[in-house]
Amino acid sequence: MPRNRCTGTKRDGTPCRSFAAADGLCQAHNPARAEAHREATRKGGESRSAARRAARLWAATGNAVNQDDLPAMLRAAILDVRVGRLEPSVASAIATLAKTSVQLSQDIELEQRLTALEAIVDPQRDPKIRRIG
Ligand SMILES: [Zn+2]
Repeated sequence: MPRNRCTGTKRDGTPCRSFAAADGLCQAHNPARAEAHREATRKGGESRSAARRAARLWAATGNAVNQDDLPAMLRAAILDVRVGRLEPSVASAIATLAKTSVQLSQDIELEQRLTALEAIVDPQRDPKIRRIG
């Protein structure tokens, strides 16, 4: 069954394109859910500002963050949270950024290893073009 679009209107006057519930309105336009939607939006803003605080905190150390320093930085953040020197939300943002950084490094390493292997298997191949199938 295809889902209906919301019959509400956005702030700029254009029609809302979100999927609608049975009442024909999306979560943002349903007055009964408006408070829950505002709360979810506010929490999203808080989590974004926690990430910005963490980025400022790191920038304030004056050093680029080195991958090898991450475990020590995370241990320091854990201790800082325990003694109340660091907001848990900031520590959480740091942990998320650290995890993303490690994942990115692993992805880059895998990509480089794959490119090296492909160069052995097919030396004529352009490494920038990835075949599908
Ligand atoms: Zn809507």
